[in-house]
Amino acid sequence: MGFINKLINKVRGNDSPAGSHDFANGALVIGRDQHAISRRDISDSALKVLYRLKDAGYQAYLVGGGVRDLLLGGQPKDFDIATNAHPEQVHKLFRNSILIGRRFRLVHVRFGREIIEVATFRANHTSDNSDNQARQAASGMLTRDNVYGTVDEDALRRDFTINAMYYNIDGFTIHDFANGLHDIQNRTIRMIGDPYERYREDPVRMLRAIRFAAKLDFDIATETGDPIDDLGHLLEPIPAARMFEEVLKLFLAGQGEATYELLQDYNLFRYLFPQTQAAIDADQTENQLVETFVIRALRNSDERISHGKSVTPAFLLAALLWHPLQSRVAKIRNMPPVPALHQAAQDIIQEQIKSTSIPRRCSTPMKEIWDMQLRLPRRHGNRGEQLLDNKRFRAGYDFLLIREAAGEPLDGLGEWWTRFQYASEGQRLEMSKELGKAPRPKRKRKPGKSAAQDDSSSSGQQA
Ligand code: ATP
Ligand code: MG
Repeated sequence: MGFINKLINKVRGNDSPAGSHDFANGALVIGRDQHAISRRDISDSALKVLYRLKDAGYQAYLVGGGVRDLLLGGQPKDFDIATNAHPEQVHKLFRNSILIGRRFRLVHVRFGREIIEVATFRANHTSDNSDNQARQAASGMLTRDNVYGTVDEDALRRDFTINAMYYNIDGFTIHDFANGLHDIQNRTIRMIGDPYERYREDPVRMLRAIRFAAKLDFDIATETGDPIDDLGHLLEPIPAARMFEEVLKLFLAGQGEATYELLQDYNLFRYLFPQTQAAIDADQTENQLVETFVIRALRNSDERISHGKSVTPAFLLAALLWHPLQSRVAKIRNMPPVPALHQAAQDIIQEQIKSTSIPRRCSTPMKEIWDMQLRLPRRHGNRGEQLLDNKRFRAGYDFLLIREAAGEPLDGLGEWWTRFQYASEGQRLEMSKELGKAPRPKRKRKPGKSAAQDDSSSSGQQA
């Protein structure tokens, strides 16, 4: 951080008090030799987009997380570009691009797996904007934000000061419109403008404040954090699909545990996972089994990410909804365990998608991970071997270990599976034998039903 200190002193002059420069009339401009961002740090695709826009006569800046993370010495997750070219004009420049969004129209330029997001400068709304450009709900929420403007207007429409720094490809200068450098130096998340109003315009900014605070290990400025408790409920009407995207960013970016803690501090977790919050609130166990499990699962994802391993939304969602699922199962009467689990899974997912959508590519593996939890205790005979070949074995087993670590009484089941996997064939036989004879549930067969119709029968014998 010493570098930025030096930088700010250099730019302002040592005797100017912090924050005294006037940015309303324009930006603090930091020359190319005064900052550490070089073109080498920027992806080739982003550079291509920046240069093509510039060569076509438009202004083009790298903005947002790209600039912020590079100034912090980190590796940006993606590169966002801001320009005075309108979306249609950008689209025309790039064959490999598509126009997306209605609330916020922008262009995605695709290079293989990398997507560069190009947004046109936005301005404040005025009374003579058309309905398609600007639309605001009674709550203050902007349901259309497509009024175009200039770079300085654009800066003040961004969320946090640290996200409103612009790297100009024409001259390689950084333009700081909202004192973002100062807040980077002080490790502070600070909303631009009046926080109440800005949260009302877009309540997802509350989640973003928390996401950046956890990701960067920054503090949320008091005036930026204070309104959140009052305004959390504004998240309720946000479309479930947008909430799902946000949940992935919150929990699957490597700082899930810290993010969870902050969400609880600011009372927002309940709007993402109401059923999980209810299970946490109702938890009477001595060591807070429900919350311990949630935290363990998030920590596990964080560790996997830090070791470069993959994490899936399905696993995370299965974990977040595991205890609500258990309560639900407990309420179902007169049904065998497997169908009861399936029924409960259906109910829990139906309820969750009121808050965050769950695409089928997630709900299917989620159910399979839950299903595995019923199968893993049933290891007699050659079932153990068979389960190892199941495509969800790995996820199911990892899930089991977290349950065990969180304190669920499972009688050493996780440890058994750990040994079983690494055992030789002979040892496996021995381990299965040690379990004793498989307890055979007595089945009453309905008269007239043949064994062939009953797929639960493994022996094919008539009772
Ligand atoms: P990261 O990509 O690392 O998650 P980011 O800051 O780049 O962080 P994006 O979601 O990629 O976040 O958005 C890019 C930029 O667009 C932000 O830095 C911010 O300037 C602006 N922005 C994004 N979402 C909002 C919003 N809801 N309200 C105001 N500005 C926003
Ligand atoms: Mg970004």
